[in-house]
Amino acid sequence: MFKGFTFSTPEFPVVVPQTGLSFTVRSMNTGEVGKLKSSLVSPNVAHKFINKAIFDCLSDKPDFIDTYDDFKKFVTTRDREALLFALYISTFGEERDFNPTCSECGKENELKVSLNDMYQINMYPFSVTLTESYKLARAAQMTDHDPEIEAKIKEREDEEAKQKAAEEAAARMKKIEERRKKMLSEAQKNNPEVPDTPPDGITLVSKENVKKQEEAKKAAAEAEQERIAAIKIDPKDLLVPKPDKDSIMLDSQKEAIKKSQEYKDAMEAVNPDSILYLIEKVYLPVSKVTCFLKQPTLWEEEEVLSKAPLMGKDAQDVVSETLIINKFTQEEQDVILTDRADIVAGYQSLPPRDKMMIFEEFNKKFSEYEMKLDTKYFCKSCSSENVLRADITMLLFRSLSQY
Ligand SMILES: [Zn+2]
Repeated sequence: MFKGFTFSTPEFPVVVPQTGLSFTVRSMNTGEVGKLKSSLVSPNVAHKFINKAIFDCLSDKPDFIDTYDDFKKFVTTRDREALLFALYISTFGEERDFNPTCSECGKENELKVSLNDMYQINMYPFSVTLTESYKLARAAQMTDHDPEIEAKIKEREDEEAKQKAAEEAAARMKKIEERRKKMLSEAQKNNPEVPDTPPDGITLVSKENVKKQEEAKKAAAEAEQERIAAIKIDPKDLLVPKPDKDSIMLDSQKEAIKKSQEYKDAMEAVNPDSILYLIEKVYLPVSKVTCFLKQPTLWEEEEVLSKAPLMGKDAQDVVSETLIINKFTQEEQDVILTDRADIVAGYQSLPPRDKMMIFEEFNKKFSEYEMKLDTKYFCKSCSSENVLRADITMLLFRSLSQY
């Protein structure tokens, strides 16, 4: 039976803004688009199907991300927007029509815009990939001095950090070397006169560094093995409840223990400066409650929302809002809330000013690191300047509905 046409699928490489990981996302095919379209009829679970659609279309991803669960643990909900952009643009192309209304005169404008031109990304500066890229770029004098990043790099000059740096550098070296070999063999195919070694100054690597890099490569290979071994957990090795306890535990409780252990293990493999570890403490002045904020991953989002599948839309919105809250404490009254239902109840009881403060602080510390789609345009009726901002999820829904 015919299995499908052979052709090269469009792809889009992306570095996600918060965890700094690199991915390449390929286009969905017609079958996959149809599947995603039919799964989005229920908005309560849309996030799950979008996560899966992205994962299924990853044609390149970091080595330590093996399974779908790994993916969800290492990628934040903000990172997902950049991945969704890559999925969208490789599937539906970059040209889009918009009909925004001018904020000055209220007339409608017809615009044809390239989404690539609207794409802006603000990276979280302390992810390993980014600090390493920064060092490389500094070495090649391609970027300006950034005291904030440099201070952070210095602070992290311990053994573990060095090992990770070596590992990143070696991976990059390998890629550069592979690319060089490929280019060389292509060049030699066309012209047998081309020598095996490139002229000086072409590679990023100086000759005296070659030995160092060899050592780094070796250390990196060992570190990578250890890291992969640390992430790949045999479920059998996870917390096994004792038989007497086992008999009175519900399956859902066992499942929860297993998941929390897997989660802890995965987190140990993340670099200590990752945004995944960032917990921001906010003191709420009216209620005198302290709120601990964090950026949720896809995994945490699914966990929390899966507990509320039968809630009404409003209740589910409240639960979604509390995703960024890790914990509440109120010292005077000795209150610590970590259970999700307690957090939701605590959140609902806050005075509105405190609630607003939570979101202001979250936006300052986390949301700033994101992918944005916006562009300026001048109204064709009154010539005033406007900003057109697009939302990638809305764009996806629109394209799917037209499909
Ligand atoms: Zn106007």
